[in-house]
Amino acid sequence: MSYIKGLRCRECGREYPKEVLFVCEYCFGSLEVIYDYEKIKEKLTREAIASRPKNLWRYRELLPIEGSPTDGLNSGFTPLFRAHNLGKALGVDELYIKDDSVCHPTLSFKDRVVAVALSRAKEFGFKIVGCASTGNLANAVASHAAKAGLKSYIFIPADLEAGKVIGTLIYAPNLIAVEGNYDEVNRLCSEIAGKYKWAFVNVNIRPYYAEGSKTYGFEIAEQLGWKTPDHLVSPCAGGSLITKIHKAFKELHKLELIAKPKTKFYAAQASGCSPIVTAIKEKSEIIKPVKPKTIAKSLAIGNPADGYYAMGTVGDTGGWAESVSDDEIVEGIKLLAATEGIFTETAGGVTVAVTKKLIEQGRMPRDESILIAITGNGLKTQEAVQPHIGRPARIKPTIKSFEEEVRL
Ligand SMILES: *Cc1c(COP(=O)(O)O)cnc(C)c1O
Ligand SMILES: [Zn+2]
Repeated sequence: MSYIKGLRCRECGREYPKEVLFVCEYCFGSLEVIYDYEKIKEKLTREAIASRPKNLWRYRELLPIEGSPTDGLNSGFTPLFRAHNLGKALGVDELYIKDDSVCHPTLSFKDRVVAVALSRAKEFGFKIVGCASTGNLANAVASHAAKAGLKSYIFIPADLEAGKVIGTLIYAPNLIAVEGNYDEVNRLCSEIAGKYKWAFVNVNIRPYYAEGSKTYGFEIAEQLGWKTPDHLVSPCAGGSLITKIHKAFKELHKLELIAKPKTKFYAAQASGCSPIVTAIKEKSEIIKPVKPKTIAKSLAIGNPADGYYAMGTVGDTGGWAESVSDDEIVEGIKLLAATEGIFTETAGGVTVAVTKKLIEQGRMPRDESILIAITGNGLKTQEAVQPHIGRPARIKPTIKSFEEEVRL
């Protein structure tokens, strides 16, 4: 059963069939999936959703596949909880964390987009899939492709963290480290996708892939009891996630599953790569590409594909944007660990540190609800914190040695 009507250009509105298309041939705008919301409304009730398995496909009618999902059947539906300790540390009343650092199976929210992309790629008949990645997408594509029995070609910048390289190689894909930054990797992948007709999840089937991020937003609303937070801080790399969480809330409202969302969206980036944040702060019409230099490699996209839409989301909702230094990112990671017992990667350090900054600036009131998006796992970016966490006390296996070392 399909609820996809077709594709539509996000710029000029021209419509296209639901095929392997991603760019408007008139204005070069990116394409987006259009759905039959009237039909979906009859089917997708709160009760129907509640009766389904706890994975991202419980919102299946709002996801761009034709038949039954075939990938990511254990992905999504990650914990959302009230972070009392971190809230206290930041001086706010009602703080929530949506924790995709434990998303199945590769410990980041990229399992969501890949679940949708590969289900769709199989419907199109692709046998080879690929991606340009800042790390987490590489892990997810390699893992999901292995399970699906698809061949994969994965392109990463050559200077990626060891955890992300090993966490890709273990699935035995064709992993190609490119001597260049993500933006150069991405440009190369666009060329390869055109020439070889493989399904590059974030290039030629991007309109379908990107819809997977909405499930992070659907879950937030459902897990808050069909409500949305007053404020939401999201990390931005290409700028897709923040845009899609907003779209998710708007769709749920369209289906009358939630009240009109009043959530203000805040874009979070590292100072060493903050093209979206800079444009928002300078109230600029254009996003100036930058050369990334930050420990937050998963967010290191200097020329963000969805930067304008991310800016639009922030502007339309009355939110704001902020960036943080590498030192602040490490402090953010350590603060989340010390207060909530969660080890997040650098991107999570960015959102925690940005949240702290925005609260201190008075941008987010202390008595309204705030949700922090945690999107990846700290075990994958160990080198970022390794010099900042001390060492274990080393002793001989004797009580004497213990008591000498630990002076009680
Ligand atoms: C990819 C990624 C993001 C940002 O995603 P965009 O949709 O490109 O903005 C955020 N956090 C983590 C951990 C990621 O891997
Ligand atoms: Zn167009």
